[in-house]
Amino acid sequence: MDDGGEGFLELIEAWDGVGLVVRYDEQTGSWIFIALHDDTLGPMVGGCRMRVYARPEDGLRDAMRLGRGMTHKWAAINFPFGGAKAVLAIPKPLVGSQRRGLLHRFGALLNSLAGAYGTGEDLGTTPDDLRAVASVSKHVIGIHGIEDAPSDPGPFTALGVFAGIRSALRHRHGSDDLTDRSVLVQGVGHVGGPLARMISKAGGSVLLCDVDADLAFAISVEIGGNVVTQENVYRTRCDVYAPCAVGATLSPATIPNLRCDIIAGSANNQLESVADAHALAERGILYAPDYVVNAGGAMAFTLIYQGERRVAELERRVRGIGDALDEIFAEAGAAGESPLEAAQRRVQRALQSAENRG
Ligand code: NAD
Repeated sequence: MDDGGEGFLELIEAWDGVGLVVRYDEQTGSWIFIALHDDTLGPMVGGCRMRVYARPEDGLRDAMRLGRGMTHKWAAINFPFGGAKAVLAIPKPLVGSQRRGLLHRFGALLNSLAGAYGTGEDLGTTPDDLRAVASVSKHVIGIHGIEDAPSDPGPFTALGVFAGIRSALRHRHGSDDLTDRSVLVQGVGHVGGPLARMISKAGGSVLLCDVDADLAFAISVEIGGNVVTQENVYRTRCDVYAPCAVGATLSPATIPNLRCDIIAGSANNQLESVADAHALAERGILYAPDYVVNAGGAMAFTLIYQGERRVAELERRVRGIGDALDEIFAEAGAAGESPLEAAQRRVQRALQSAENRG
């Protein structure tokens, strides 16, 4: 949303984070914002977004919102990191030496924070961009410089979603057996593709939907699933709907039509508004909060950055997302509230108890 009218001063005065780094990059006319939100649980980690905004203030607001979101993501899964996010608000798409120059100067800025913040890929930045940052700074996650380390977070994110689906099935049906369960995967890219394969391998039946119909068809042939058209995606009967494409698919327009018991997927910002979490609970649909269930890739890459190399250990830690969701669903059930509310309270508790300890 680029329609907010706040100026820099109002945004900064309202900022509840631990710090803010703002730099104007004269060479490219870009603004660099690093929103350092919370370091209660550990060093701050969060990706770097690059995009054109209507106003630089919109870039700052985005950095603040996303930085806060990272604090919540880590705290909800008891992962000992703090939340932050960087935004490179560019005036127009940058290429070649201009782009590299900006990334190098961003890297130098990272160095000045001496490890308080580690960055990674996000919307608008690519592995090549991150390599450019890593050529001047070691505070970059996802560029490991190790031949055999995984380079795509997608399969780890998929594993976290898979663990989340199993947790939701346990909560709803008392068993996480996928046999005879159907899962509709919307978007079969870097996350949805591996997720569809995991579900199929575990005995579940998979329904696939993608704007790239050829891709959906190819994966359906590979795993023996069925393709659902875009028009039918929100009214197809399934046990689990896994949104793995775009945000805001859960809204007053779609929720009344949904014919699923569980929603668990990787897409960011699945709810059009917080009220949609209540609407889902009222319809008896169990919703796994997106920022919890989609944390697997960021988690695995942060562990790799810290030196963990054993894939089995990375997978074990990512599967822990299922344990966190077991607790969130149980708490929400006991309190008669939505899992989103239970997750938010869990975040506050984690931050409070770390503060009390510290
Ligand atoms: P991707 O671009 O690899 O795949 C997305 C797929 O969705 C593509 O195949 C695309 O054709 C399809 N798609 C786009 N719009 C669609 C629509 N309206 N209906 C159906 N299909 C549509 O992206 P990804 O890395 O798999 O990520 C998927 C989602 O998960 C995104 O929202 C992303 O922000 C989020 N996410 C990804 C990761 C990760 O590790 N990659 C981590 C956390 C969150």
